[in-house]
Order: sequence, then C-alpha cells, then structure tokens
Amino acid sequence: MRASHFLIKTIKDDPAEAEIISHKLMLRSGMIRKTAAGLYSWLPLGLKVFRKVESIVRQEMNKSGALELLMPTAQPSDLWEESGRWSEFGPELMRFKDRHERDFCLGPTHEEVITDIVRNEISSYKQLPLNLYQIQTKFRDERRPRFGVMRTREFCMKDAYSFHDSESCLTKTYDVMYETYKKIFERSGLKFRAVIADTGSIGGTQSHEFMVLAESGEDAIAFSDSSDYAANIEKATSIIKSKRDLNAEICKSISKVDTPNIHTMEQLSKFLNVQLEKTIKSLIVKITNDTEEVFFALILRGDHQLNELKTIKELGISGALEFASDEEIKNLVGCDKGSIGPVDIKIKVIVDSAAHEMKNFVCGANQDNKHLVNVNWTDCSIFKVADIRNVLQGELSPDGNGKLLIKRGIEVGHIFQLGTKYSESMNAKILDENGKDKYIHMGCYGIGIGRIVAAAIEQNHDSKGIIWTDSLSPFSIAIVPINMEKSQDVNIAATTLHDELTEMSFDVLLMDQKNKRLGNMLADVELIGIPHRIIIGDRGLKEGNIEYQHRTSDTSQNIKIKDIKEFLMNASGLNDQH
Ligand code: ATP
Ligand code: MG
Repeated sequence: MRASHFLIKTIKDDPAEAEIISHKLMLRSGMIRKTAAGLYSWLPLGLKVFRKVESIVRQEMNKSGALELLMPTAQPSDLWEESGRWSEFGPELMRFKDRHERDFCLGPTHEEVITDIVRNEISSYKQLPLNLYQIQTKFRDERRPRFGVMRTREFCMKDAYSFHDSESCLTKTYDVMYETYKKIFERSGLKFRAVIADTGSIGGTQSHEFMVLAESGEDAIAFSDSSDYAANIEKATSIIKSKRDLNAEICKSISKVDTPNIHTMEQLSKFLNVQLEKTIKSLIVKITNDTEEVFFALILRGDHQLNELKTIKELGISGALEFASDEEIKNLVGCDKGSIGPVDIKIKVIVDSAAHEMKNFVCGANQDNKHLVNVNWTDCSIFKVADIRNVLQGELSPDGNGKLLIKRGIEVGHIFQLGTKYSESMNAKILDENGKDKYIHMGCYGIGIGRIVAAAIEQNHDSKGIIWTDSLSPFSIAIVPINMEKSQDVNIAATTLHDELTEMSFDVLLMDQKNKRLGNMLADVELIGIPHRIIIGDRGLKEGNIEYQHRTSDTSQNIKIKDIKEFLMNASGLNDQH
C-alpha cells in the first residue's frame, strides 16, 4: 500500500478527551474517530487491525468446530418476553418501536434469537452437540461509555452459543472454548489470565472471564502466587489466618466512650489509638419490595471493603445495592452514619465472616459522638454470618496454595455454562435416545473485537507510540524512502521492494507522501507502531545497503538490499504469517 493512496492522519498531541493511553494512541494514529458518545468509526488504518483480530478469532473458532452464522441486530420483544428478560434487563437495553408500533430492541447479546433458531431447527439429540457463532454488532446503552473503543455503546462481539443433550457434553465444549480463547489471546500477543467470574444478567452456572493484565483495567483480579487459582475480585475468596491465637484472648467487658466529632474509621482509629483492624464498621442497606422496605446492617472489619456482588447474592436481590440515606439512618438507629454499631440495633445484622473472628473490638454505640470498646459477638444479636467483603492482597489462596496477589485487568472474553436457563423459559427441547422430551443444555462464549485492539495497545506501547505484534499490526513493514522525488535510484529501489514484498503477501506501507519530511514520516511509522521499518537512501544504496530497524529495538542495522526479503522472511513473527 502506498501511503499516498491511504488515509493517514496523525495527531501530534494527546487529545484532551482521552484518559487512557490506548484511547490517546488510537486517536493520534488515526485509527478511530468519535461519532457520538460511545459510538466510534473505525478509519481504514484501525479497521485493518480490527480485521486482523477478527480473522484470528474466526480461524480459531472454525478450528474448534464451531459454525458461523449471522443474526440480525434488531430483535423482536416477543422473544425477550419469553425469556423474561424484556422486563429484567435494565436501561442498557435499547428499546424502540417500528412503524406498526411493535416493540423491538437492539441486541445487546443473542441468547433469545439463537434459542429460537435452534428450537426450530433441531429436534433430536442426534443433531447435537452444535456450536454456532457470529461476529456481529451489539448495542448496549452503557451508563458510562468511556476509554474509546474499550467501552462503547455499539461494539462488535464474537458471540458463540453451544447446544447439548447433557451437562457433561456442555462441559466438554466449555473446555474446548476455554482452550480456543487461550489460543486467540496468545496469537494476539496478549498477557492474560482466565479468572472465575460472575454470570451476571446472562445467567447460568460456571463462568470464566479472560482478563488482559493492565493498570487501566476496570476489573480487579485476585490470583494465587503458587497455584492456578484466579478469580474476579467480585467472586474471589480467601482463607484468613489470624495473627494471634484468638482462643487465648479473653473477652473483656464492654464500655462506652466519648468520641466527639469522629465521623470516619480512620479518625476513630487515631482518636482511640487502636488499629483499624480492631474496629468494625457498619453499613445500612435497604431492600424495597412491593409491600415494604427492609433494612439490614452489614458489619465489616474497619480495614475491609464491602463486596457488593457477594452481598447482593446473600440478600437474594437483583440489581444494585441501595444504601440507606442519612435521614433513614437517623430515623432507624437514632444517630448519624459514623456511630452505627451492631449492639442492640433494631434491624437484622449480617456479619462478615472475617469480622466474626474478632474479639474485644470497637464499634459505634448507635448514639452520636459515642463508641463502644471491648465489644464481643456475645453482646450482639446476629442474623447471619457470611462472606461479604473483598479479599486483600497477601491473604491465603482458598485452595490453600500460596498467597493472593491483586492486579487490574481488562475483560476481553467471557465464557458461561448456561445450563437449561434459556431452553426452559423458551421451551427448546429435543428427543433423547429413549424418545423422551429433554431441555437442551446451553453454553455461551463472547469476545469483544474492538476491546482486544485497545487492550493490546494498553500492554504494548512506549513514549513514541504503539508497538504492534506482527499478528495485529495494520502493516507489517514500513518502507521509508529518503528524497524519493529527487532520487530515481531511491524511487526505483523503494517501489520495487514494495511491489515484491506485497507480491509475497506481506502487508507493506510505502511512505511515499509528497512534501513530507523524513522526521515526520519516521514519527508516523513509530506512532502507528509498524514492527519492521526499512529506510532507503542514496548513501546506503551506493553500497547496496538499506537500513532496517525493529520497532522494539534502539538500533538499526545495515542489510544488503539483495538479502532483505530473506531477512524479513526469517524475522521473528513475520514468518508465522506465511
Ligand atoms: P463489562 O463487564 O466490561 O461490561 P460484560 O461482562 O457486560 O462486560 P459480556 O456480556 O461478557 O460483557 O460480553 C462479552 C465481551 O464483549 C466482553 O468480554 C468484552 O470483551 C466485550 N464487551 C462487552 N461490553 C462492551 C462494551 N460496552 N464495549 C466494548 N466491548 C464490550
Ligand atoms: Mg462479562
């Protein structure tokens, strides 16, 4: 490709709208442009990378035995009514009416449509297992679209759905998908971890997320330093071993102390000169059902954080956790939120299991400016003890092997065992080998194509720009001629090499833009992140040389022009593509 025929529009400075590096670099290199909030256009340069990711995904899915199909973006509400999700799905579901006043949505995912197809096409266990996938546009009206193509409202997903006559058959395909995902992310040059995950609104039993490790990641993941255990912090558990022998500690008697103007745990710990881990904090949540409002006090160790997902599950509610307002707390407990405690409180108390290990702790006295010291659980009435907190780095892995490390990750893929959730609600059945009706077992498997592109940049960049792997780079090789317009030798050498390498099916970009200074061309090639760069100039040509440099190397090397094709054939990464 000649740069003069391609759309290359680079930007020198970081755009103010971009917070994270991949967003900045995708805008600066001219890969994407924003059309509206959460809606991006992929310019030709970006689309080349997008297509490379798509092609890796398609190849690996086909290798795994999955079959490609294509379903519509617009979906009729009837199918969503059947699954029950028309009312369950929140405002992320983009609903609209057609000209006949019929309800539709833009598909955020395709379980309903695919289940409808399969229940009509498949009738016998003999036709199973089946794994169907598409690479298609999804729409989710995200509350906070951000970070460029990392979290958009319209995005491209590879979504696959598998169908089985038994749970064991589903597990087999799930394992195949797990391995397929590993290959896809390895080929994309990503450093990633598969972690145990929540099933969210999609539903189902087993689930893993594939997380690309990056500081900018929106998720926190916990994993063992010595075993395979890895989980999203939402699901991670740990074994906490007390530093002291709790049985040996004698329960002291409770007493009330003045704590004037103390509102936070840190202030309390300082004021009473006790460690944060000897204090407990109390949070009040509200559950609103049809007839009444029910309140619960959640009790955690002072240095621990509430895990909302675990709490939601413990309370058996759907949707987000709702905290009681200051006014509700005042009416309910009689004090402000800094002085709540579990002793003699009039609502049900749920104690986190780590807090339940404590003795002689400090807590609020349910009276403004007062706290209790030397409190023990025998002083309180407990409704339930449960794990409702986030694990901390350094705690023991739940499998007993090693300590937990916590890192940030970007979720690029997610696989689920759905079981019979959709086949039951949508009546998708087959006849089994005894001629009996049986619900189909299902799995589903998603990968965000655009998010992989952004995640790859988060992991691979430097101060000059993007550093692509050969597998994803928009162009593998850049040829930068010096004074091509003036020197016929350079012109001939550069265009011939470009044509020959293109003929060999390398993706080559010849920087032939008129009136562009060498320094600017080199800066563009670095910003765009092309892995292999060749400079051709009169001086080198006189000796039969050209100058080669890899994007990751600080130095260039002279190579004989006659040897360059063979050199590139053998260059790491490039030969994989042939
Ligand atoms: P998240 O937790 O990031 O909102 P999710 O769990 O809702 O994602 P899934 O339903 O599991 O996402 O979708 C499968 C894949 O689609 C994700 O792993 C991610 O790569 C991609 N994806 C999901 N939402 C978006 C989005 N808003 N923008 C871009 N890609 C997305
Ligand atoms: Mg997910």
